[in-house]
Amino acid sequence: MKRRQFIKHASRLPVATGLLGAGAVYAAPKPEFKWKMVTTWPKNFPGLGMGANYLAQLIGEMSGGRIKITVYGAKELVAPLEVFDAVSDGRAEMGHGAAFYWQHKSRAAQFFAAVPFGLTAQEMNAWLYHGEGLELWRDLYAEFGVIPGACGNTGVQMGGWFNREINSIGDLQNLKMRIPGLGGEVMRRLGARPVLLPGGEIFSALENGTIDAAEWAAPYNDVALGLYKVAKYYYYPGWHEPGTTIECLINKEAMDSLPSDLRAIVESAQRIANQDMLAELTAKNNRALQQLIDVHKVELKKFPDEVLVALQKISDEVIVAELNKDPKARKIYESFNRFRQQVQGWHNVSELAYMRARDLS
Ligand code: CA
Repeated sequence: MKRRQFIKHASRLPVATGLLGAGAVYAAPKPEFKWKMVTTWPKNFPGLGMGANYLAQLIGEMSGGRIKITVYGAKELVAPLEVFDAVSDGRAEMGHGAAFYWQHKSRAAQFFAAVPFGLTAQEMNAWLYHGEGLELWRDLYAEFGVIPGACGNTGVQMGGWFNREINSIGDLQNLKMRIPGLGGEVMRRLGARPVLLPGGEIFSALENGTIDAAEWAAPYNDVALGLYKVAKYYYYPGWHEPGTTIECLINKEAMDSLPSDLRAIVESAQRIANQDMLAELTAKNNRALQQLIDVHKVELKKFPDEVLVALQKISDEVIVAELNKDPKARKIYESFNRFRQQVQGWHNVSELAYMRARDLS
């Protein structure tokens, strides 16, 4: 037995011995591994920040207290966009965020977060776990000494909040809209003026007219920001974020230092958290949407097909432009897109056909 393993083993002995003695009092084992988890979210933020807390709690419970993870909200230990570097250089053992924040590291990373007209949550998990996705993702981050994994998903988001009706592409002209990433670039090419704003600044920007429209997430999170007070129309679907994957980052040396049972726990906990966030947000979005319609009298509207067709055409162009900037992005997107085409064929006769059938009467 190596010295380090022996010390770990020995540290558990007093507990075991104590249990054998008469009148033994249970003593929680001391953590063998104390980890820090830095996040891109405000501390305890509904859905996302709480998802980070849940993952840390799960790993603690499943390991019987052998791993103790302290979660830090955005800016508590490092700035939100520094999370990747902090995990890479070992200032923190874990990180929690979304891969589209790391474009400055690799433009290919964003394909593991959200792609306009890309994969839904269910399809993304299929590509990650039973396609090539997770392997490609881990290859991409290997040079940074970081192991990524999925640990949550928002499901299909909403199209956003507007104060003018969107009946045609012409209605997007000069529209100042808070919409980040590839979706923002698509809007720019269609004549809109995309603006980058953190979640906390969206309400006031809409209220004082700095922006005309905004997307944030889906009803549960959008109600929390109070966006229904400053915008009239709530459009769907969220073509630009059809199933945003939330990302867990782990420092490779920290992961390698764990014995195999704890490594399995850290992997399994991510899968549990991944599924749980989608379940939670599906339940809460459903309730929040009813509240928006019934209580706040929000006008729910679907983007016209003509607009969605144009958005999809431009999305393809924007993605091709991205692929030309980075050969790694090309390799990843080819796998992603192949999977999308195949799964779309299957989902046309399963999920989509069933949803339509359910809707007939
Ligand atoms: Ca969004």
